[in-house]
Amino acid sequence: MAEEERLQSENSAPEEEPEEHRIDPEVEARRRVALSHVRVFGDPALRTKAAPVRTFDDSLLTEVARMAALMHDALGVGLAATQLGVMHRLLVYRAGADAPLIAVVNPQLEWSSPELELAEEGCLSLPGVIVDVERPLHVRIGARDERGEPIVIEASGLEARVLQHEIDHLDGVLILDRTVKEQRKEALRALREGGSSRPAGEPQLEASPA
Ligand code: ZN
Repeated sequence: MAEEERLQSENSAPEEEPEEHRIDPEVEARRRVALSHVRVFGDPALRTKAAPVRTFDDSLLTEVARMAALMHDALGVGLAATQLGVMHRLLVYRAGADAPLIAVVNPQLEWSSPELELAEEGCLSLPGVIVDVERPLHVRIGARDERGEPIVIEASGLEARVLQHEIDHLDGVLILDRTVKEQRKEALRALREGGSSRPAGEPQLEASPA
């Protein structure tokens, strides 16, 4: 019985590419260009705590616009400034294709729910890696918008997950630090060998990389 279950989960490995994974060549080309700007595992910028933004000026707006464009082209749902080597506490995200783009400056996690959720996460800075990460399901975040106005974001589900993932980036924390030991080991092997890794078993609903 256990044997059969194991076989089934092995057979459900992603040999057959689902429809959404067949990407238009033009989109793929833009994605590659965008990804060439994103720092990848091994780059010290990903392990450094970013400094608060002090000046809300035109150059910050330009930075936000650049990040939004790169995130869009990279087909990501979120991007932290540190992933571009900019050591500012600034992130952008879009929780869903039709959701508005939100820029978050100097975020503070004010509250997180005791209720946790386990889900798969990818990261633009960890190519080919998907790991399970358990995070609070609901969060409240205080921050500034790109013009310096105070904002409060109450988020749940995917939006809460993306925000926590990006705030982690601002603190030099990666999903490798938030998963179980076996998956971290497998992910590090994939990063070293240029392969890919994902949790064994039934594929869960996969979050886009952030
Ligand atoms: Zn990431």
